[in-house]
Amino acid sequence: MINFYSDTKTKPTPAMRAAMAEAEVGDEQAGEDPTTNRLTARVAELMGHEAGVFLPSGTMCNEIAIRVHCTPGDEVIADETAHVITAEGGGPAALSGVMVRPVQGRHGVYTAAQMEAAIRYPSRYTPTTRLVVVEQTSNLGGGTVWPLETVSEVVASARRAGLKLHMDGARLMNAVVKSGRTARDHAGQFDSAWLDLSKGLGCPVGAVLTGSRGFIDAAWRHKQMWGGAMRQSGILAAAGLHALDHHVDRLADDHALAHSIAERLHPLPGVSRVSQVETNIIFFDLADDAPGADVLAERVGRAGVKIGPFGPRRVRIVTHLDVDAAAGDQLIAALERALVGPVEGVAAG
Ligand SMILES: *Cc1c(COP(=O)(O)O)cnc(C)c1O
Repeated sequence: MINFYSDTKTKPTPAMRAAMAEAEVGDEQAGEDPTTNRLTARVAELMGHEAGVFLPSGTMCNEIAIRVHCTPGDEVIADETAHVITAEGGGPAALSGVMVRPVQGRHGVYTAAQMEAAIRYPSRYTPTTRLVVVEQTSNLGGGTVWPLETVSEVVASARRAGLKLHMDGARLMNAVVKSGRTARDHAGQFDSAWLDLSKGLGCPVGAVLTGSRGFIDAAWRHKQMWGGAMRQSGILAAAGLHALDHHVDRLADDHALAHSIAERLHPLPGVSRVSQVETNIIFFDLADDAPGADVLAERVGRAGVKIGPFGPRRVRIVTHLDVDAAAGDQLIAALERALVGPVEGVAAG
């Protein structure tokens, strides 16, 4: 199966598995796993932060950061498409007792002015605006890179208002490769940030959350409380170190493949709109007289290609380490056949 559903679908390469097998290990929750310690120090340095903590998932990074920065009754500002709103099971409400105020950005990117407009006028009646979340790159926005100027404007304006800042850097390294700016340039201005090892970087598990020493100490308390503390996690951390050595620059290949796929999607019959591609994510829409997204996904699935239906007439395609140019050709060929095929099943879409 050729899997364009998500960049989480990668399998560890033989070289990554070898690095994992050879990892020096100890008890992570006692601070005794040397490989995990090397990974957290390295990512903290990369992000321009004092310290880091290894967590099982990016979702836990977001949820712990919100918990540490906020108290119940606070409000968090995020783009309406943000993962913290759309894909964490209501975690901010359930785990931290906060509200999230969605901002209608453009492709997942909002302006400093929009952020300012979302800040509550302080009173006994309003929730207290406390935290601003920036998702770099924006997933549901279509892999959009927040321009560094926009990030800096949002940061400056949030600082003036006395707000905390958190960067969801699930795909931060895609933004780094695309923009030519460092991770420190993007994330160093934030109180907390993290990057996912299990997306474009191709690791099986894990994410690293970074911030000041005090923030990370507080994060550790919640890691322990929420069951995220580990034991010989060096086996997983070794995959992360390997990925940082070998899987960052090659993200440019994923971006190039996504561009080439988007160009070939445009002329296909039944494709009504293709999103502007900046990194490794493509969204496309299906015309009313074309098969629906579920029917299309089922048909190309039979040809051995997996794509992501994201709504009745919207499809997401993500490029990554385990799909190459030949896989892209197979995807386009499968879509072409599925789109010109009989329109039956359309009603189901
Ligand atoms: C995948 C993703 C997450 C969550 O990361 P997991 O490691 O899957 O928990 C958070 N934010 C964004 C933007 C993501 O794409």
